[in-house]
Amino acid sequence: MTAADDIREPRDFIRTIVAEDVATGRVGEVVTRFPPEPNGYLQLGHAKSICLNFGIAREFGGRCHLRFDDTNPVKEEDEFVDSMLEDVRWLGFDWGEHLYFASDYFEKLYGFAVELIHKGLAYVDDLSGEEIRQYRGTLTEPGRESPSRNRSVEENLDLFARMRAGEFGNGEKVLRARIDMASPNVNMRDPVLYRILKATHHRTGDAWCIYPMYDFAHGQSDSIEGITHSICTLEFEDHRPLYDWFIDKLGIWPSRQFEFARLNVTYMLLSKRRLRQLVEEGYVGGWDDPRMSTLRGLRRRGVPAEAIRLFCDRVGVAKTNSVIDIQLFEHCIREVLNRTATRYMGVLKPLRVVLENYPEGQVEELEAVNNPEDPSAGSRKVPFSRELYIDADDFMEDPPKKFFRLAPGREVRLRWGYLITCREAVKNAAGEIVELRCTYDPATRGGNAPDGRKVKGTIQWVSAAHALPAEVRLYDRLFQVPNPLDVPEGGNWLENLNPQSLEVLPRCFVEPALGNVPAETTVQFERVGYFVPDSADSQPGRLVFNRTVGLRDSWAKIAASS
Ligand code: ATP
Ligand code: MG
Repeated sequence: MTAADDIREPRDFIRTIVAEDVATGRVGEVVTRFPPEPNGYLQLGHAKSICLNFGIAREFGGRCHLRFDDTNPVKEEDEFVDSMLEDVRWLGFDWGEHLYFASDYFEKLYGFAVELIHKGLAYVDDLSGEEIRQYRGTLTEPGRESPSRNRSVEENLDLFARMRAGEFGNGEKVLRARIDMASPNVNMRDPVLYRILKATHHRTGDAWCIYPMYDFAHGQSDSIEGITHSICTLEFEDHRPLYDWFIDKLGIWPSRQFEFARLNVTYMLLSKRRLRQLVEEGYVGGWDDPRMSTLRGLRRRGVPAEAIRLFCDRVGVAKTNSVIDIQLFEHCIREVLNRTATRYMGVLKPLRVVLENYPEGQVEELEAVNNPEDPSAGSRKVPFSRELYIDADDFMEDPPKKFFRLAPGREVRLRWGYLITCREAVKNAAGEIVELRCTYDPATRGGNAPDGRKVKGTIQWVSAAHALPAEVRLYDRLFQVPNPLDVPEGGNWLENLNPQSLEVLPRCFVEPALGNVPAETTVQFERVGYFVPDSADSQPGRLVFNRTVGLRDSWAKIAASS
């Protein structure tokens, strides 16, 4: 049985095409690629493309190349290459030996250009960038031919060689394809193939001063690598005729391109250019700020790679653009974490509780289940003593009827512990509650009363003498409107940033076991949410936790009502 036999019903139109190509024998080994430009950090939208390309290669027993489309020396850096390699690996994919750079093909691409000149299909143009734009025409009007268009092959060869040799300045000349200035597809109106850029390239250094345009490099790179299914986003649909033209005129291996809708998510920006602006202008702490839609940011936020893969899978692959509700993403994060995250107790707004009838100096070790969803996660010991902290929100001096937590005279269950009753709220001179005097019922260890009396509320707590201080960073959505780019006339999208996207709680307390949570391990603070030690700032002596996501999941309700 081949891998393809496994695929009874392809999940989307791209997989349907691939399955047919395999079934009809048009394609032997399926070869895909993920082709980022190393000019920033990967974001959630790229994850969709990564999951799709690497996923298809895996499902069909083929291979997926990782290729850097590094044709623009001005914006590209090794830093971005390194981070992208790490992020793809973190997401759970492996390119094996198939790591490539478009810049490795510069000599070949130059040869292709020379071949087009020989065939009378490319010419050196003296028009400036601005003039080329003016000559291009519009969607309704044909373009005009450049005065340089009918240069002889010899003159073109000579000028192109001199462009390469550095005889001209930036922008003085370009090489253009000679196709059709009247084509209804503007991409076919003699597109620029090469430009002069006296800039140092992150890999080829100063070996070149002319660089191929993306459109001249991308399709041929696919062809050179034998990419059977070149899968890209819809905005390149109109470029496909151009890629096919190059393949046809150069007589090179016929890679084929298929387009799918790019990922858009409410409250998120998925564009490197804009993310870069947020970083460079200091609106966030960096590419890995936990509020960023970058894979780095999501990772530091505590989002597991598995949740991102699950999300991409749920979103699916379509042919028309749409916007995905961020709550689906949050739902996927919770779905994975609910299954995998160990539960602990943490108190974000500490309020001291003194158990008046608990012996001074006594400490008990209470048994706490690590993950009720996963019995194999076992249990741990939590110290219990006379003085505790509970969350201030779990106490009300004058509670409404439906409040089942602590209030004067009311009884509540301490998670994994005892039933306690509040006797008195102690206030300071300003009238603020600073301490609760309570009693515990020694017969209720484990949380149940032998007389069967019902206690509805259960709250988390930590032992004051044993708890570890921690800073907790509550992250929220970076933007306060579903479409961050939706701005009134004359407005600026930066005004859509959510001023409350980060709330720092400097004085929290967590149970002692949270001092040993390994890096990048997201845990649940019971009743509060999912948290991860901050990879940059958390240390054994100074714990810092980032909130990944809260516990409340509204996705099921949304899905049911739509
Ligand atoms: P950005 O807008 O973030 O700069 P890009 O398309 O310019 O994105 P590339 O590095 O060229 O960035 O993208 C690499 C691959 O990832 C391309 O094949 C592109 O189609 C795909 N990709 C980028 N953004 C998305 C997205 N939002 N959804 C799906 N695929 C995407
Ligand atoms: Mg791009």
